[in-house]
Amino acid sequence: MLDVRSNYEHQVGKFKNALTLDIDHFREFPQKIKELEQYRDKKIITYCTGGVKCEKASAYLIENGFSEVYQLHGGIIKYGLETGGEDFEGKCYVFDNRVVAEVNHINPTVLALCQICQTPCDRMVNCANPICNAHFPMCEACGWQMEGACSTACQAHSEKRNYDGTGFYQKELNGYDPAMNSHNIQRTKKAQC
Ligand SMILES: [Zn+2]
Ligand SMILES: [Zn+2]
Repeated sequence: MLDVRSNYEHQVGKFKNALTLDIDHFREFPQKIKELEQYRDKKIITYCTGGVKCEKASAYLIENGFSEVYQLHGGIIKYGLETGGEDFEGKCYVFDNRVVAEVNHINPTVLALCQICQTPCDRMVNCANPICNAHFPMCEACGWQMEGACSTACQAHSEKRNYDGTGFYQKELNGYDPAMNSHNIQRTKKAQC
């Protein structure tokens, strides 16, 4: 199993024993193909969140001479819905206000660690310092203690944004989020889940 997603995604959850790549964006995938040389003649199943990136990744692998490449159609989301998600550890990073979604309803685990105190935590936040804006897991307690910053340097930064307990800053979306102006509705939904 080859996870073709980025670090911030697979650090929150992945298939058990899956190979992961140290990439911050999918465009770095072609550079990492060298690391997969030893699997050239093995059966490879690529997967991603919803089945789009792995389509591209599979095509790229085949073009580069990998012989047996398959992909998980519909991605992690479909897998979780159809099977109960037993072979998935942690949660699935998703690109809406939930940030992480449950996949495994049979024996769920938390894979990521709070970057500050190292306790299991899959609550993803953005650093309150807009210049840094690092995207990382941080628990509720550390969030308040660090005022939403990833480091003491960021906490002391003159432009640091006010932390409201979410680690989510609407301004950063820059009009990109289709769910904009409906955050209260989203929050209510999350509470019900
Ligand atoms: Zn913590
Ligand atoms: Zn920071």
